[in-house]
Amino acid sequence: MLELVNITKRFAAGGVTLDILKGANLTLPKGQQVAIVGPSGSGKSTLLQIAGLLDSPTSGEVKLDGKVVSTLSDNAKAALRSKTFGFVYQYHHLLPEFTALENVMMPARLAGRVDPERAKDLLARVGLSERLGHFPTQLSGGEQQRVALARALMNKPAVLFADEPTGNLDPATAGGVFDLFHDLAATDGLTVLLVTHNEALAARCSAAYRMNGGHLESVG
Ligand code: ADP
Ligand code: MG
Repeated sequence: MLELVNITKRFAAGGVTLDILKGANLTLPKGQQVAIVGPSGSGKSTLLQIAGLLDSPTSGEVKLDGKVVSTLSDNAKAALRSKTFGFVYQYHHLLPEFTALENVMMPARLAGRVDPERAKDLLARVGLSERLGHFPTQLSGGEQQRVALARALMNKPAVLFADEPTGNLDPATAGGVFDLFHDLAATDGLTVLLVTHNEALAARCSAAYRMNGGHLESVG
């Protein structure tokens, strides 16, 4: 279980200091999907980066299974991220010189484990079993996005952080991605923190919060 406790974030840029997060609280129970919605610029991505230990809060704590992890050293955070977390973004950052299958296997390769069968299975589950040898430029935007999703799931993360991952997918494909989250919650206990503009997807989550004025409020 992941908890955000009284997270604040202050940015100073261009001579202006802005308090983007003003005490955000969130509990992400194991095996559940929690959505964050809210207007552009409200701090959703900032919160996700802090929850995923890619950025530090100005104050407040990130806890994993009851232990404070936001104050770990950079090396310890990096180790925890690669072992426990997966990330997927609106812009997928696939490696252009590698095929879909190679892109998906990359995290396993970097961790010293190569499991082509899992990579193929994940690509099949996102509907791309006939695109294994395609390069990113040979795939549509939505297909590239699904490759990025399979890649994020390759190392069996306990928690997936997804920042508008279905932004460029049609409703049916976005729904399919969400079916995969549900399947993986059931089989692997996957936990998902999802930033989305898609109200239908947010409604399918275990819980949804709206970012409003630097705070998270529960959406009914
Ligand atoms: P959202 O994802 O909800 O659209 P973000 O979390 O990306 O919003 O950004 C929230 C606000 O924080 C924006 O106004 C943005 O300008 C500001 N911000 C984000 N990152 C930085 C940074 N590194 N330095 C200064 N300001 C930042
Ligand atoms: Mg954002």
